[in-house]
Amino acid sequence: MSTVRIEPERIGPERIGPERIRHWIGGKPWQGEGARTGDVFDPATGRVAARVDLADAAVVDEAVASAGEAFTRWRGASLAQRANVMFAFRELLNARKGELTAIVTAEHGKVLADAAGEVQRALEAVEFACGIPHLLKGGFSENASTKVDVWSIQQPLGVVGVVSPFNFPAMVPLWFVPNAIACGNTVVLKPSEKDPSAANFIAALFAEAGLPDGVLNVVHGDKPAVDRLLEHPDVKAISFVGSTPIAKYVYETGTRHGKRVQALGGAKNHMVVLPDADLDLAADAAVSAGFGSAGERCMAISVVVAVEPVGDELVAKIVDRVRALHVGDGRRPGCEMGPLVTGAHRDRVLSYVDNGRAEGASLVVDGRSHAIDGEADGFWLGPTLFDHVGVDTALYRDEIFGPVLSVVRVPTYDDALEVVNANPYGNGTAIFTHDGGAARRFQHEVEVGMVGVNVPIPVPVAYYSFGGWKDSLFGDSHAYGPEGVHFFTRTKVVTGRWPDPAHGGVNLGFPQNT
Ligand code: NAD
Repeated sequence: MSTVRIEPERIGPERIGPERIRHWIGGKPWQGEGARTGDVFDPATGRVAARVDLADAAVVDEAVASAGEAFTRWRGASLAQRANVMFAFRELLNARKGELTAIVTAEHGKVLADAAGEVQRALEAVEFACGIPHLLKGGFSENASTKVDVWSIQQPLGVVGVVSPFNFPAMVPLWFVPNAIACGNTVVLKPSEKDPSAANFIAALFAEAGLPDGVLNVVHGDKPAVDRLLEHPDVKAISFVGSTPIAKYVYETGTRHGKRVQALGGAKNHMVVLPDADLDLAADAAVSAGFGSAGERCMAISVVVAVEPVGDELVAKIVDRVRALHVGDGRRPGCEMGPLVTGAHRDRVLSYVDNGRAEGASLVVDGRSHAIDGEADGFWLGPTLFDHVGVDTALYRDEIFGPVLSVVRVPTYDDALEVVNANPYGNGTAIFTHDGGAARRFQHEVEVGMVGVNVPIPVPVAYYSFGGWKDSLFGDSHAYGPEGVHFFTRTKVVTGRWPDPAHGGVNLGFPQNT
């Protein structure tokens, strides 16, 4: 097992400082000089904490070549060898999850407890991939025709690209990378340029776990890097997660270049509260799912659909909870919600708060005046609540991706269902009720990929698969779990016969099963 030292100045949150974050190609940090770099901020202070290299097409080509060379050997590695690497990586990640948690908080801004939750869900995806020998078992039909057997085998695709968003810098790469490499592929990962260090930490840890050089490469960058991956003839598949316009672009461009693509997009997730619901439970859930990670989750609840007459009482309970939230630097004890990821993103979210009232909604809690436990120049916006939001407003329609929760009031269950189903997104949704029949009807009728019953963020466990419907996913496969294994393999079916002395001689007819 090779041991790769993870250079401390690139991984510790307090040591990211002015360091340069490099690509990881061929099992080590890239030593070239790139023309462009990007700023990586500490969102809780507003200061530039590091500069990340932004790849041009030549660097992407270098990473793809490294992955291509590694593929010829890695696809021949036994299932036992691949599983052993995955088990070793799981042990290392578990032992060092505190460091990865700190990296996530330092660059993304989410509070430490939330970052720890992200890393834990990532570990579950790794654990699923440890079972790869079982997952790649094919079918076998003895004597499908007389003395003829038929069996199926699942083989890797080759070099695959993974492009991930800023909001889960550890978990989303690990939704894909473990399954991809356990299936025998080699990977070029292009993480978000806003919080790139988690990907390097993961790559170095995989190297330490015994993954051969070149099987996992990390290329940092923005549009030019993604575009090169999309058109590179040696990249066979792309797993993308990000906003809907880019997901659509990635799906269309990648498939036009002959690749298999799964592109997960944005969301506007509704939580329906029926009149018989436990309103304390519903209010807790709305606040947790609306403001956790400052609303920067693709499964965040951004719209509460209150079925009257619960509106007034529910909003009052939400207001009490929102006002009590402790907002500040995610490293400080007791903080429940951190800053937004960049100043530019915070300003975009603020524009919806400014416009919301002009669009006719009632601003019940204004996050601009919330107390902040952090440095003044951090990218802050406190939790914000709008009531009586119309479905024809930008406040309702757009994915804001910040701590802004809207309440839409409707008279009946049917009206609530109509609101959810008319929305172009279909990532997650939830219903809060004591009525099992209503919940069952909702799960049957709602046009959304992931549904919670009295559960506000129904992210499937690692042995199911994650994916939305409609504008929340372009492609045919959901992420991780069984659909992930399916995405990263192609099936071959073999029909075989071992002749015995009784074989029947020449026959020019089309084979029939007898
Ligand atoms: P984004 O679309 O801006 O970026 C995602 C990735 O695409 C990044 O790696 C980025 O570098 C790259 N990219 C950005 N612009 C590009 C362009 N013009 N051409 C090619 N590549 C480009 O998304 P984000 O702001 O990093 O992440 C937040 C978004 O991701 C939200 O919309 C959120 O809902 C979504 N998201 C979805 C899921 C899901 O599972 N459906 C999960 C997490 C996040």
